[in-house]
Amino acid sequence: MIMEIADAKKNLQRKGFLDIAVDPTLDLFAVIEDLKKKKNAIVLAHYYQEPDIQDIADYIGDSLGLSQQAAKTDADIIVFAGVHFMAETAKILSPQKKVLLPDLKAGCSLADSAPPELFKKFRDKYPDHIVISYINCSAGIKALSDIICTSSNAEKIIESVPKDQPIIFAPDRNLGAYLIKKTGRDMVLWNGACMVHEIFSLEKITKLKVRHPEAKIIAHPECEPAVLALADYIGSTTALLKYSKQDSAKEFIVVTETGILHQMEKENPDKTFIPAPPNNACACNDCPHMKLNTLEKLYLCMEYEQPEITMDESLRLAALKPIERMLEISAKAGL
Ligand code: SF4
Repeated sequence: MIMEIADAKKNLQRKGFLDIAVDPTLDLFAVIEDLKKKKNAIVLAHYYQEPDIQDIADYIGDSLGLSQQAAKTDADIIVFAGVHFMAETAKILSPQKKVLLPDLKAGCSLADSAPPELFKKFRDKYPDHIVISYINCSAGIKALSDIICTSSNAEKIIESVPKDQPIIFAPDRNLGAYLIKKTGRDMVLWNGACMVHEIFSLEKITKLKVRHPEAKIIAHPECEPAVLALADYIGSTTALLKYSKQDSAKEFIVVTETGILHQMEKENPDKTFIPAPPNNACACNDCPHMKLNTLEKLYLCMEYEQPEITMDESLRLAALKPIERMLEISAKAGL
């Protein structure tokens, strides 16, 4: 076993996770619950995680809720079942805590679409602009930003900035275009996008709507403008979940990552949720990065406290400022 662990740790660098065989007869739910108690650990999971991970999590949420939880938890270990920028955000907010990510390779195409060196050059072309960045970006981009926002609070964050102050919005061009429409602010946009939200098929969603005329189309603002134009309701993951509960419709076509359907179905057993199809051969749209995390990897990372998120302190402090600004504005707005 000792050899196995040593080999697995060597593989950690290459594979991004501890590659140790897990006994298939192990009750992972029970073992993870024990590890949480023994190690004073908390599991935070994003709505796009697989159902088993959502069910074992202490807190499930979208980026805003997860960062608020990460800021206030008194656990010694934060296990982040999400993608790298989310675990990084938890580390920025709670440097004294050990932050673990079940698979270090759980990245994000949107975060990757904004390399900090290129973004700095872009920002320098607009010296009188402030930078508002969507939380789905690397610590390097956060450090180059003035305020962070999430899809839950973006409108309020933009409205908190004086009207005569020009703004750069990064990294998601679709969310940026949606916010320009909602707030009437003429922002300069960085040209990034999420690989999951930009490939929904307009044609297939239209066909679904013909087959389910009573269904409401609900969409995340990271989708392309033409897809958003079809939607009855647009909102963050949390807002979509809330809407599906409060609205009287019995059927919904859900235009975002399919992980959210687990909570929608749990909270509304009498309603039907249809995942919107992407522009490829698949029937639903999973984020390949989010789905790298598994219950086995979650267990292993808690047992061996690896892979751990670490960060240079000067980068952390620079990235912390705009996140704190976001949390202050959100608290004032009662979000
Ligand atoms: S769904 Fe899109 S924005 Fe979210 S983690 Fe996956 S690639 Fe990134």
